[in-house]
Amino acid sequence: GAFVALGLDSRLLVRALVRRGYVKPTPIQRKVIPLILAGRDVVAMARTGSGKTAAFLAPLIQRLALRPRKRVGVRGLVISPTRELALQTFKFLADYSKYTATRAALLIGGESLEAQFAALAQDPEVVIATPGRLLQILEQVPNFTLSAVEIVVLDEADRLWEGNLGSESRRILEALQSSHQGEKTTSSSFLAGTCQKVLMSATLPHELAEFSRAALSLPAFVRL
Ligand code: AMP
Repeated sequence: GAFVALGLDSRLLVRALVRRGYVKPTPIQRKVIPLILAGRDVVAMARTGSGKTAAFLAPLIQRLALRPRKRVGVRGLVISPTRELALQTFKFLADYSKYTATRAALLIGGESLEAQFAALAQDPEVVIATPGRLLQILEQVPNFTLSAVEIVVLDEADRLWEGNLGSESRRILEALQSSHQGEKTTSSSFLAGTCQKVLMSATLPHELAEFSRAALSLPAFVRL
């Protein structure tokens, strides 16, 4: 089907999408899936309802499933501005990844820290998190680092840049940057070459556009 034409593996990913009733990819999926599969940094203008979640989750799952794990630790990180969005994304991930061995943990505020510590002890490859709780856990769990993160998605990035969330999001990106320091990079921009970055956003405010230019590595801009 058309999902296969985008580069998705029929056995690992397309089977799960078709089971869910997705007959054909949405326009955002058509553009974003091949870019993420190719390892590109991406800034995509996408609203809720466009199929944006599957647009980043399906290629993220596939890349992690098909590339050997180089070291212990979280390989895929999705940051969501709200608990509700994080939970919904976590459920989609569980469903889309059911034919792979992907393990995931949900780190959101308002839920038991102990349960989230236990989930991290299971060595998940993917973490879906809200900024505040992720920072709290980074501070409290000494052996939890972001040094193995290969792909980070900032979902609803315009909301992640607003108000108090903005400073939390920046602190997470700084933690990501310092945990990758010393690795070979292909350009001077931070994280370049070591961690793929994907921004999904309904709008592109000035600050976010500036960040994309400064911190992403030759990003592909997707507008519909
Ligand atoms: P999102 O924009 O990620 O919030 O997705 C909106 C809704 O579209 C969700 O309920 C998805 O299950 C659904 N969806 C995502 N991709 C497809 C597709 N290719 N075909 C049909 N429905 C889809």
